Amino acid sequence: MKFDVLTLFPEIIQNYCSYSIMKRAKEADIISVNTVNPRDYTLDKHKKVDDTPYGGGAGMVLMAQPYVDAYESIEKLSNSITIMLSPQGEPLKDSLVNDLSKYDQIVMLCGHYEGFDERIRDIIKPREISLGDFVLTGGELPALCLIDAVSRKIEGTLGKIESADEDSFSNGLLEYPHYTKPREYRGLRVPEVLLNGNHKDINEFRLNQSIERTRLRRPDLYEKWIKKS
Ligand code: SAM
Repeated sequence: MKFDVLTLFPEIIQNYCSYSIMKRAKEADIISVNTVNPRDYTLDKHKKVDDTPYGGGAGMVLMAQPYVDAYESIEKLSNSITIMLSPQGEPLKDSLVNDLSKYDQIVMLCGHYEGFDERIRDIIKPREISLGDFVLTGGELPALCLIDAVSRKIEGTLGKIESADEDSFSNGLLEYPHYTKPREYRGLRVPEVLLNGNHKDINEFRLNQSIERTRLRRPDLYEKWIKKS
């Protein structure tokens, strides 16, 4: 998977991807993360990328020309998708992450300040994706969330230890609780069933915990799961 990120702050993207599982995935050539800075595509000597909004109002708007030129400089593979990170987009969900993991390239546009000149949308026609119903100062964190979540779905990114098979949402439920050593901590004991080595009992316990957790915390997911099963 090739990730290309248009951002005014490339260090944020590259720094995050230099640690832990993202770093390993890059070193193993499972993913590549390339950043393009629209500031390098400005035509004026001050490298201006934003300006005041027509019609008045607060904040600065990202200018179309540097973004469109920066976008057009990126070589697109045939199986590629372009995403604009935007609070006005479709909310990011596990099913969408699965769909995105099937592409060979994801090009992402990170906004800042008041957001994009509308003509960037008109010309590039990206799919808009949101991290949720709240507003961040920039698109870098949502882009990183997307890179991270999509990378986890790509074969080879996670070792056996970090397997995603039983993670929350993979079967429509939240995951069951985990415990590790010691067996007792501040008077709280690990459930006995997890210590007896009987895998049938363990699986049953975990499934029940998953169902109950989902029912209590995410009744919306629980209802869907009940209807499906
Ligand atoms: N004025 C815009 C609005 O009200 O819809 C918000 C602009 S926001 C301050 C600046 C940038 O942060 C956006 O262009 C987008 O790239 C990013 N951003 C903010 N919140 C986001 C969210 N919930 N999901 C995805 N991107 C977000």
